[in-house]
Amino acid sequence: MSGVRKTYATGAIAVEALRGVDVRISEGEYVAIIGPSGSGKSTLMHILGCLDVPTEGHYSLAGRDVSDLEEAELAQIRNREIGFVFQQFNLLPDLTALRNVALPLVYAGVAAAERERRARVALERVGLADRADHRPGELSGGQQQRVAVARALVTEPSMILADEPTGNLDSVSSADVLGLFRELHVAGRTIVLITHENEIAAQAGRVLTIRDGEISENGVVEAGVRG
Ligand code: ADP
Ligand code: ADP
Repeated sequence: MSGVRKTYATGAIAVEALRGVDVRISEGEYVAIIGPSGSGKSTLMHILGCLDVPTEGHYSLAGRDVSDLEEAELAQIRNREIGFVFQQFNLLPDLTALRNVALPLVYAGVAAAERERRARVALERVGLADRADHRPGELSGGQQQRVAVARALVTEPSMILADEPTGNLDSVSSADVLGLFRELHVAGRTIVLITHENEIAAQAGRVLTIRDGEISENGVVEAGVRG
């Protein structure tokens, strides 16, 4: 991102949620973005995730400038390049874990047999091969989030974008999910994790702090690459 600004106009009042953000995330990095409520985290996450575009400035994802795209094009790029993990898991309650994981491949137009094969590989990757036929309600919170991570992985995205992924988990399940992110990072995945908690951010290889719509770098944290 270079010179990214985001202004929300609400009636006569304009709120500058991002005020000139310059940030470069390389392939394979594990980056945490930390900031207090109202600092601009969601706005930044929406732009990073191609859910919204900047008011000013440029954002390139996987070599393509996506700053000025229309929603239809953004949606395509989002489905192809980004795996989302949310605080609320966002699994469909009536579908099995396997079906939930396969869902992004339905939108990508992948044939049924291949969808199932790839969903099984992704579930295996997160250690839940034996829960393929369980529905979300039959899984613990940590397991549900692992299913969500498998769903994020199944399209082989350029980046995993996790927004407060441990916000709904107890400390044991949080550690479990963070351990999974660490493994994925060591295996070469690009991970961007958004959080308001220092201990969570410290898991990443690099921590960016956002405050009042501006980013500063905290330097390299050792925990990231060690595994
Ligand atoms: P965070 O996720 O860190 O809490 P946000 O990105 O949600 O921060 O918000 C940053 C600022 O932008 C806040 O002042 C918020 O009130 C404002 N804001 C966010 N979304 C909108 C919107 N859709 N319309 C108007 N103002 C918004
Ligand atoms: P925790 O206490 O660690 O959150 P649970 O007690 O919810 O975990 O679940 C323990 C195990 O039982 C998990 O492996 C989960 O898959 C399984 N499980 C939980 N609820 C159900 C259910 N309703 N039907 C089938 N299996 C379940």
